[in-house]
Amino acid sequence: MQVSKFGGASVKDANAVKNLSKIVESMDKPQVIVVSAMGKTTNALEELVKDYFQGNIKGAESRLKTIKDFHDTIISGLFDDSDTSLLIPYNACIKSLEDRLKHQPSMHFDYEYDQLVSFGELLSTQIVSAFLNSQGLKNKWVDVRQVLKTDDLYRDANVNWELTAQLMGETFVFDEYQLYVTQGFLGGTLSNICTTLGREGSDYTAAIIGNVMNAEKVTVWKDVPGILNADPRIFPDAEKIDSLSYAETIELAYYGAQVIHPKTLKPLQNKQIPLYVKSFVDMNLPGTVIRQESQRIPIPVFILKKDQLLLTLSPLDFSFITEDNLSNILGLFSQHHVRINLLQTSALNFTVCVDRKEHLQSLMEGLKDFYNVRYNDQVELLTIRYYTQQVIDEKVKNRVVIDSQVTRKNARFVLQGS
Ligand code: ASP
Ligand code: MG
Repeated sequence: MQVSKFGGASVKDANAVKNLSKIVESMDKPQVIVVSAMGKTTNALEELVKDYFQGNIKGAESRLKTIKDFHDTIISGLFDDSDTSLLIPYNACIKSLEDRLKHQPSMHFDYEYDQLVSFGELLSTQIVSAFLNSQGLKNKWVDVRQVLKTDDLYRDANVNWELTAQLMGETFVFDEYQLYVTQGFLGGTLSNICTTLGREGSDYTAAIIGNVMNAEKVTVWKDVPGILNADPRIFPDAEKIDSLSYAETIELAYYGAQVIHPKTLKPLQNKQIPLYVKSFVDMNLPGTVIRQESQRIPIPVFILKKDQLLLTLSPLDFSFITEDNLSNILGLFSQHHVRINLLQTSALNFTVCVDRKEHLQSLMEGLKDFYNVRYNDQVELLTIRYYTQQVIDEKVKNRVVIDSQVTRKNARFVLQGS
């Protein structure tokens, strides 16, 4: 069997869903299709949850109306009036969303978040499943909350692999149906309460299903022709990479490339299942394949992290940066959950690049007891993997370089914000 994942952009309007149906028609079966919420619905639902949780019922209702109208427009582009019976499950789903908003929220924000935001995927899969059936692509809609079992860490739930494998094995049996449609991003606790796996988690869902079902391959359909060597919005001459190893993909994700949800790779690597990243705009393009063995990437890869802060610490007692100081500093970063993107040390200074948005204030307070803290705000971190001197010259020449770190594979530059 195979697993295919379709993200929000691939179901953002009626034409996109028709295009998805063409892709599904051409695919080898048996398949499990994992679908995300349509377009930007998850963001819209996040706003709805905030209103609901704060008791702003008017606000929540008006957001609900926008979400409903958005889905209704897609539906009217897909179905004839005679198709109403196909849409019974969709209508029931809308009704239960409306009913939820009539009740008072509990005091647990993350719980309420999962109960409401999950409707994005529930609605999208009802529409996609009904549309595929209307096109003669016979499929069964599966409620992933019943088979992808997790703990109750709402918004970041952990998978119960054993139970999930058992339940999915009993559900995706491929006798009457060769095609199943299910939700990305969602899970369910043992007591059937809905959970979510973290934003952009649908890739991970596809990998979980792939792992427990021993899929032949998993395909993620995107609006780009595969994994590129740079973000085309920043570097217009970005090129596609044909193949990557799991390890290399993990490295790229670590440096900040938004290639694939980072949790996705491990479940696939463990079972040596190849992951294809393909374009839903042109399904005939070969895309990128991620697997165990792969040749070295033949071109430099550019990863730019914006909105960085460069922090420089020096001990107040004029001591050197020793192992003791290092362990104290790193302990504080870990306690305050601040991820370090780049680290440099010298005799008197400890320098790191971190995301600006993280919980920096409390960390700064902790550091100031022992260290003199200086910082450069609004810097960018450029990583060039497989660099050559020529590409460094090209990409860095007109920029102010505040710091750099060059190793065998990577050249990294802290640049003044552009
Ligand atoms: N719909 C969810 C999100 O936007 C999950 C996903 O798209 O992967 O975060
Ligand atoms: Mg999404």
